[in-house]
Amino acid sequence: MNQNIERLAAMLRSAKGCVFFGGAGVSTESGIPDFRGAEGLYIEKRSIPPETLLSHSFFMAETALFYDYYRKHLLFPGARPNLAHRSLAAWEDQGLVQAVITQNIDGLHQMAGSRQVHELHGSIHRNRCMHCHAFYPLEKILDDSEAVPHCSCGGIIKPEVVLYEEPLPADTISAALESIENSELMIIGGTSLRVYPAAGFARGFRGKLAIINKSPTDLDSRADLLIQGAIGEVLGEVAAALDRQAH
Ligand code: NAD
Repeated sequence: MNQNIERLAAMLRSAKGCVFFGGAGVSTESGIPDFRGAEGLYIEKRSIPPETLLSHSFFMAETALFYDYYRKHLLFPGARPNLAHRSLAAWEDQGLVQAVITQNIDGLHQMAGSRQVHELHGSIHRNRCMHCHAFYPLEKILDDSEAVPHCSCGGIIKPEVVLYEEPLPADTISAALESIENSELMIIGGTSLRVYPAAGFARGFRGKLAIINKSPTDLDSRADLLIQGAIGEVLGEVAAALDRQAH
């Protein structure tokens, strides 16, 4: 483990351009459950599967039920960035990491201070009226006493979160692909790499690849460095190793 930490620190220092690609596992140490780990939502016995509850057609047909599920299972307003988010933000400041590509919708990378964050699946922090497109922050969804939050114009408010059946935002895809093309190193962490098309981004990468995940991923055999562990702990140790190497 220690050797791998030192190796990742050295890879980070020597790479011309590094991009981090992450998923739900990056936020589990902040108290937000992932979908596929041991405590994931998929193992809860539900008559309507999450893929249906979180689909565009379900939102349109059963908006109140959607919001009930969404508020209970996807919103964690008390969650704060962990060592993984904070290390990545510090490395952006230090010029070691150029961008974070995330499948998460929780906004914790920005809360930690990262600026170049490509949110492939949108964000719970951005909400818009479907009629007049007025913007609403997360608080509107949290504090609204109605089952379905409405705009002052009367339109229904929809989170800017990519639901099943919806395409990924084109401008975010181009920005994410550009940051991948400009990177010699990709660190993948906290993702099962099973959700497409997002996972395809990582598969197309041809540079040096480091994977940090609690459970095996389909890309493990392609990785130059593989660390099985909790990403907050691991990145925290890499940050300490970088400090040591600098002194
Ligand atoms: P996933 O749930 O499919 O996989 C998470 C992976 O992270 C698993 O392989 C698990 O073993 C690993 N993991 C869990 N905790 C970890 C830790 N502390 N350190 C290292 N690895 C850890 O997640 P995914 O691949 O991102 O796909 C799920 C989809 O659900 C995404 O599209 C995402 O948008 C959405 N989602 C987002 C959030 C969030 O915003 N925080 C939470 C749940 C789901």
